Amino acid sequence: MKTKVITIEENNINMEAVEEAGAILKRGGLVAFPTETVYGLGGDALNGESSARIYAAKGRPSDNPLIIHIADMGDLSMIAKDVPKEAYLLAERYWPGPLTMIFHKTDIVPYATTGGLKTVAVRMPSHETARALIRAAGGFVAAPSANRSGRPSPTLARYVIEDLDGCVDLIIDGGQTQIGLESTIVDFTGEEPVILRPGYVTEAMVREAAGRVLTDQAVIDSDSDQAPRAPGMKYRHYAPRGSLFLVEGETDKVSAYINEQIALKRRQGLRTGVIAAQETADRYTADVVKSMGKRHDGEEAARQLFRILRELDDENAQIIYAEAFAGEGVGAAVMNRLLKAAGHQVLQAGDKQDQKGETAQ
Ligand code: AMP
Ligand code: MG
Repeated sequence: MKTKVITIEENNINMEAVEEAGAILKRGGLVAFPTETVYGLGGDALNGESSARIYAAKGRPSDNPLIIHIADMGDLSMIAKDVPKEAYLLAERYWPGPLTMIFHKTDIVPYATTGGLKTVAVRMPSHETARALIRAAGGFVAAPSANRSGRPSPTLARYVIEDLDGCVDLIIDGGQTQIGLESTIVDFTGEEPVILRPGYVTEAMVREAAGRVLTDQAVIDSDSDQAPRAPGMKYRHYAPRGSLFLVEGETDKVSAYINEQIALKRRQGLRTGVIAAQETADRYTADVVKSMGKRHDGEEAARQLFRILRELDDENAQIIYAEAFAGEGVGAAVMNRLLKAAGHQVLQAGDKQDQKGETAQ
């Protein structure tokens, strides 16, 4: 398949191009498009064959359900039932925006879209191109992140092309995505609302709007042997090709420890990488050093993370050390993604006992 790439500016939307993209989706094709979180790989959510194509294009396990994107509140009841009041409160505050909610599905939603589940994940994005495209496609667009399964989510069209050229009909280039991390997922199908995936909308924000919320234990506890309730969270994700280790501890000790490790690995002939805060980036002697922005700027870190993981690949870093960041606010979501990218390989700086990552590469 030949993939066409077009550019659509969010503040000057070419409606003719959007209509063309919508027509592709209506006839069962695939269109990758920008949202405010990351690029999505879209198909008609109510057409099971389109969903099957999405799974094939991504190489995604078919038990990992897709999020359905809508553009208008009135469309929610077409695909979701038993929507509780708390969900409407959250929607009022954060839709359109980087928030996904899970409900019981209606019969028109094919199991091919929900990975066989009786529940459905729904999001209303705020990106204007995305909203125009959803409307042009008939209102319901299933769209996981537009990367090959296991790769970092794409924040630039360039990375969508890298992963999906030849596998989709059209890629819409809308520049860099604003948030850079996938949506927060809140499950409303149980007794209490539960966060299944942390994101830009934090636990405190959800609690403030909905009154109450829990966070899935599998998200909080990196060593939890409980299966995550968002099926996608159990897979290794966002992983760079090199071996990635997170280093925790007091800042100076972390820097010293990382530099020690780098010296060691370089002597072994490995190409080394570091992910650091701007304040400490120039301390490192690695072959490739990437700055995530100021240490306490979680929003900037969120924007940079996935691009940095891909750049480390592009620059052939074979062993990578990342400073652990403050896990507050959106920083918690950044840490969640970094932990997954590292396959939960965490080292303690200054603690000579815990050298478990040493042999794990
Ligand atoms: P992505 O499409 O890459 O943003 O990933 C979507 C995430 O939403 C995955 O982690 C899925 O497992 C999760 N998800 C989608 N639908 C459901 C659902 N019905 N129940 C639980 N998790 C879901
Ligand atoms: Mg994804």
